[in-house]
Amino acid sequence: MFFIFGLRTKVDQSGVVQQVCRHCGNQAAQVITRRSTKFTLFFVPLIPVRTRYVQQCTFCGAQYQIDKADARRLAVG
Ligand SMILES: [Zn+2]
Repeated sequence: MFFIFGLRTKVDQSGVVQQVCRHCGNQAAQVITRRSTKFTLFFVPLIPVRTRYVQQCTFCGAQYQIDKADARRLAVG
């Protein structure tokens, strides 16, 4: 008997908003993505380990983590 287990991160694009970038200070499209990591057993996602929300500036490419409330507020859904 053996087990195959690991972690899998799924990236979903939640939305795009126009906002002033914290990094470069330009008004530019910001892509909001949700990255959810799940514990997998036999390649089947079972237990959510963590969910992070990341905002990326399309002008300078900077990425930074935002909290769930901000993600909800910025991107519908
Ligand atoms: Zn920027």
